[in-house]
Amino acid sequence: MDLQTAELKVNDLRSLLNQYGYEYYVLDQPTVPDAEYDRLMQELLEIEAAFPQLRTPDSPSVRVGGEILDVFEKVEHRTPMLSLGNAFNEQDLKDFDRRVRQAVGEEVSYVCELKIDGLAVSLRYEEGLFIQGATRGDGSIGEDITANLKTIKSVPLRLRENATLEVRGEAYMPKRSFEALNKAKAERGEELAANPRNAAAGSLRQLDPKIAATRNLDVFLYGIGGGGEAVADSHSEGLDYLDHLGFKTNKERRKCSTINEVIEYVTSWVDKRPHLPYEIDGIVIKVDSYEHQSMLGTTAKSPRWAIAYKFPAEEVVTTLLDIELSVGRTGVVTPTAILKPVKVAGTTVQRASLHNEDLIREKDIKIGDQVVVKKAGDIIPEVVNVLAEQRTGDERDFQMPTHCPECESELVRLEGEVALRCINPKCPAQIREGLIHFVSRDAMNIDGLGEKVISQLFAAKLISDVADIYKLTREQLLALERMGEKSVGNLLKAIEASKSNSLEKLLFGLGIRHVGAKAAKTIAQSFGSMEKLAAAQKEELTAINEIGDKMADSIVAFFEQEEAEELLKELAAAGVNMEYKGPKPVTAEESDSIFAGKTVVLTGKLEQLSRNEAKEKIEAFGGNVSGSVSKKTHLVIAGEDAGSKLTKAEELGIEVWDEERLLAELNK
Ligand code: NAD
Repeated sequence: MDLQTAELKVNDLRSLLNQYGYEYYVLDQPTVPDAEYDRLMQELLEIEAAFPQLRTPDSPSVRVGGEILDVFEKVEHRTPMLSLGNAFNEQDLKDFDRRVRQAVGEEVSYVCELKIDGLAVSLRYEEGLFIQGATRGDGSIGEDITANLKTIKSVPLRLRENATLEVRGEAYMPKRSFEALNKAKAERGEELAANPRNAAAGSLRQLDPKIAATRNLDVFLYGIGGGGEAVADSHSEGLDYLDHLGFKTNKERRKCSTINEVIEYVTSWVDKRPHLPYEIDGIVIKVDSYEHQSMLGTTAKSPRWAIAYKFPAEEVVTTLLDIELSVGRTGVVTPTAILKPVKVAGTTVQRASLHNEDLIREKDIKIGDQVVVKKAGDIIPEVVNVLAEQRTGDERDFQMPTHCPECESELVRLEGEVALRCINPKCPAQIREGLIHFVSRDAMNIDGLGEKVISQLFAAKLISDVADIYKLTREQLLALERMGEKSVGNLLKAIEASKSNSLEKLLFGLGIRHVGAKAAKTIAQSFGSMEKLAAAQKEELTAINEIGDKMADSIVAFFEQEEAEELLKELAAAGVNMEYKGPKPVTAEESDSIFAGKTVVLTGKLEQLSRNEAKEKIEAFGGNVSGSVSKKTHLVIAGEDAGSKLTKAEELGIEVWDEERLLAELNK
């Protein structure tokens, strides 16, 4: 990069960072994920390091926080309230450790603390009495929010001793308060708060303390302003002293004597973090000894004796390279975003379903856009929104096609549906997807017959319906790409084995509309054989608890088709089992088991049983295992680290057992 390009880039970055900083720090209403702000900041730091002549004292890279609101009295901090340097991976932590040990010249101990996602506050006490509280502001001058801080019950108004000191900590909004706030906002039709951090900041920067009082904020204190040398030798002792004075400190802290111990501690929180009742965005690592801290000193922006390890981002920004269309087995045409590969919560994401055309319009998505991506429910990638302000003008609108991308028949939008569908029953894409579904795990579970092999067999016209799978020969399979003797042998064995599957697997595999894996099992249990099911009237179907009108109609319509009859005959002739082989359903009357007829939810980690084993055992006793807690749940089995399901069960007053109790009941 030459100087001129660097200057242009630096100006762009500064103006974006200033805008995002203003929205975040002043308006308490961020418009981009933190990871995006951090990425832009990192880029700015790198260019400023390569071109020192471009450095300026007002660059966001050297400034702490944002502007301060004039409506509050100003408070000058006696010692600056700084920001923290960031570490994003193990290497960053090791580099930090190396720098620290080099400067100190001897071994150092660290204290790891949770990085509470709230806002920094300073509390001043004189002779044990709380006299003033302030925000961090721009680091030198903060806003006087004493009245608002007094509404936080964990801010002591009088200490246990008549100490005079300034303490610093993080005011935050617990997850529960945040949910309650947004629920109330939604009821009033107001814009929702973006996250607990900004909601906490917004609450403390209200002119009327009565509003802050309704927000149920809390605080953790984590340090002594201006250093605690007068009362302790180290940060950990300083924290003990704060406990002694009656302050609320966070107990989840750990003293570590090596950086490897620090790394272990940091890693242990990645999974535990969702179970905390408040949000954390990382772990703060601080050099313990005050003497070592003063040897290291600070930069204009942050202390050299501390660093914030940031957890893998859950929301990130990437480029939407293209939109691809796929036709599913029911004919629905789904647009999929092809993304520039990016790490989200630790795994690489490169595709995200955009579901339908309405969603693309609603979110105003264009090809080439910078988009925010997150993992919904922590698994499925989702495009959250577009960063319209980062558009260059080269982005393109996306147009949904009017015809099927596979068979070219006209697409239709069925009444009441947002999806566009191809309704040609002979559409090759639908048939291929139907075949892929047939061999999938919850269906016939034919190992070795994945998407790629099916696509090849289908393209070579070796299979055109599911019965053809049972006619495949060794020679035909050997002719496929990357199929050797061994894999063909295994595949033929898997096909053979699938013939003896219990009825529900076949039923689900046939892809009858609205019949999911769970419904297939209930139906198979109730009717016992394909023959009985094929002869069933709608009323017999709806008599079963979990089968509604729509599913019953769809089942009846399926068996009325001549093609279906033909197909089932072929499958039976090939030796595919048509009977239910699992345990008979146990009714509440028939069973004296405590589980009979009960809906049970499993949550958390079980030690002695896998989730599946527990599920199978409960079902064998006539219980029904469900994935979510509702008023209809009778019992919740909570393993280790149980999260929101357990909380919900407790709220609803549902009986909760631990694994031991479950095992005891199962073994009775
Ligand atoms: P920071 O939040 O990364 O770290 C410093 C802060 O950590 C301290 O001021 C303190 O408030 C807090 N903290 C929490 N627990 C602590 C503990 N135990 N010990 C010490 N400090 C603790 O730095 P920052 O300068 O406040 O802000 C930068 C952050 O704000 C970044 O995460 C950035 O992504 C985000 N940000 C986002 C946007 C956006 O538009 N999304 C804009 C600006 C800043």
